Amino acid sequence: MVNRGIRHALENDFTAKGSMAKFAQSLAGEYHINGAHARTAMGVSLSLAKGYRRKLRKGKKSKVPYVFKPFLRADDATFHITPETGLVRLSLRNGEWASFDVKLSNYHVEFMGQGKIKQLILNDRKAVFAVEKEIPEQYQLTSILALDTNERSLDGVSLTSECVVPVSAPYPDVSVIQHRYFTRRRKLAKKKCNDRRVWRKLASKEGRRERNRVSQRLHLMSKGLVELAARERSAIILEDLSLPKGGGRGKRMRRRLSSWPYREIHRQIEYKAEERGVPIIKVDPRYTSKTCPRCGDIKRRSRVGQVFECGKCGWRLDRQINAGLNICKTALVQLSKQAEMRGLGGLRLDPDALANDTMILLYAPDNAGAHGVSGRSGSTGQLNVSR
Ligand SMILES: [Zn+2]
Repeated sequence: MVNRGIRHALENDFTAKGSMAKFAQSLAGEYHINGAHARTAMGVSLSLAKGYRRKLRKGKKSKVPYVFKPFLRADDATFHITPETGLVRLSLRNGEWASFDVKLSNYHVEFMGQGKIKQLILNDRKAVFAVEKEIPEQYQLTSILALDTNERSLDGVSLTSECVVPVSAPYPDVSVIQHRYFTRRRKLAKKKCNDRRVWRKLASKEGRRERNRVSQRLHLMSKGLVELAARERSAIILEDLSLPKGGGRGKRMRRRLSSWPYREIHRQIEYKAEERGVPIIKVDPRYTSKTCPRCGDIKRRSRVGQVFECGKCGWRLDRQINAGLNICKTALVQLSKQAEMRGLGGLRLDPDALANDTMILLYAPDNAGAHGVSGRSGSTGQLNVSR
């Protein structure tokens, strides 16, 4: 139905759901199914056709989309789930229902109880339930948490009306795990180089394990971070990392950067923040690691070492905290341009007031080592603040 819908929409230049209603009805009659299924299918068709048109407009090469894998998207009028038993009933056609069981954990049941179950997406492997939740009301901000994303931690400053302190949310295990799996895959590739089928199977298994282990640690970090921000009524400031870093570096460095899961880190923080009503502000990351927060001098040419040193005014600070400080500064400028400061009018950033001897950890990373990795990894000493 989706494939026929795409062609129908393109042939007749239809872009609105209303114009597809008649076609949906005829499809439902032809296949003897619930009309609502045909209507949601036409919704999918329209969005695929929209993407195709956009590509054509931009002059990109594109084929008319075709869906190969069977799936079903059902809206809440056509299915019903009992979370306690996991029984799903799905309407096929007038008076006829299909039913199946899904395995639900306590977490699933609790999550489903928090909102209205709006949509079911079913394919040959899994069932996805979309739950509609109310967006919590945004609170009056009292502080901001500006964080620079680094390979092993998020570092930056927490700014309240009383003080500014360096903070850090470390995830040292992540790069260790990634390196371990990288060497393992290399070894495996050598060993199984004469059997592609076995190699592909083993490699995908290893890749899955790596992703799971990395994202588990990131989830712990992002959860702790967002909970703290919600408790302290802070806004979280992150860099807008839509531009990839990593031109002009060595091969090894590029590999490390491209496997660096910053997008996943930001994605997790963003969706968790949205759930909790924590505002996220994104700032331009240019020169954040090369600017002096005190006098504003930018070291365009020279490299910045572990410690940032300003040639003009003699400011010295750990480079990662320094970047966080600059992100905080940019965010304050950006916020002051907005009509309402949302209660942040009293915040001033004075780099000299930075308490230099206390580093506050934003969550307890010890829990992350439950599977025995942290002992070998955490000793990088990158997080010391020195001035
Ligand atoms: Zn300076």
